[in-house]
Amino acid sequence: MISSNYAVCTYSALTQERIRVGIAAEYFRQSTTRLLKEKLNVLPQLLLNKNQIFNYGFPVEMGDQVYIQPNEYQRDRELFYSDNDSTRVCTRCQSTFHVNTDGSQAITSSAAICQDIDGIQYNFHIHTQQPMKNLKLFKKAPKVNEFNGEMSGKLFAIDVESVYTSKGQEVGRVTMVDYLGTTLIDAIVKPENQIFDYVTKYSGLTPNHMQFATETLDSVRERIFDHINEESILVGHALNGDLKSLRILHSNVIDTSVLFESNRRRPSLQKLTSFHLKREIQNSAGGHCSKEDAVASLQLVYFGLMNPHLLSPFYQVSCSML
Ligand SMILES: [Zn+2]
Repeated sequence: MISSNYAVCTYSALTQERIRVGIAAEYFRQSTTRLLKEKLNVLPQLLLNKNQIFNYGFPVEMGDQVYIQPNEYQRDRELFYSDNDSTRVCTRCQSTFHVNTDGSQAITSSAAICQDIDGIQYNFHIHTQQPMKNLKLFKKAPKVNEFNGEMSGKLFAIDVESVYTSKGQEVGRVTMVDYLGTTLIDAIVKPENQIFDYVTKYSGLTPNHMQFATETLDSVRERIFDHINEESILVGHALNGDLKSLRILHSNVIDTSVLFESNRRRPSLQKLTSFHLKREIQNSAGGHCSKEDAVASLQLVYFGLMNPHLLSPFYQVSCSML
């Protein structure tokens, strides 16, 4: 009898919880839809313009080539290396090191050759440079057609977590959410090369995650393209890095690191979320969560639409014109 009552109570509590969550979700859907409708004319002004896309290091088409402008931290470092260049610059210790002719770095001994700012030592270097041939692998979202027309102008937030392999930085996890923050894709991506460092503190990824991963960079990109067209709006924080990693060319982008730029500095997603959304993210010992980051950047866009006076001066001018 007790267990029966318990079961009823539990069922009832669960039902109540589902209703509560359902009402909250419905309220969020309605208020978000209303906000986007009210700010329909303002939203396009949050998109990066062509100059910003170039200057903030998004992949751009230049003739029949893809080009990525190095940012202020990368000015003296080649983002892409030619076939005959066997030198790389370590992201961690800044030293220049040599790789094998196939571009891979071998771990030859347990002796430390690299050290991070906390004094932790490693027997390998890490780098973010890519072969120049990767510039030919970039793709655009599908053109608008009779099947995907409703995706035009819609917001989709993306976040990528990366790992370091024998050949540099590679995608390890990709999350894409729709304008309501509903997960459309949350995929563990198997890198092409042997993983040297999961950088779990940042990526949240561990060997367990990778154990059964079957998704590749190409397959996850095709899944992204199943949800968007070339007129969809991609949202993210320092999204240039995510699009570079995913090898995606896209010109309708909102970047929250630019949206809230202050004194020519791009604040971190963690700081913006804490300051504006009063929520703590990226503070888990398990590392960052790409879903959490994607949702945070989406909500910061909505926060910016409701509080244009808190956006960077560049956007305040354009938004106040309406
Ligand atoms: Zn190093």
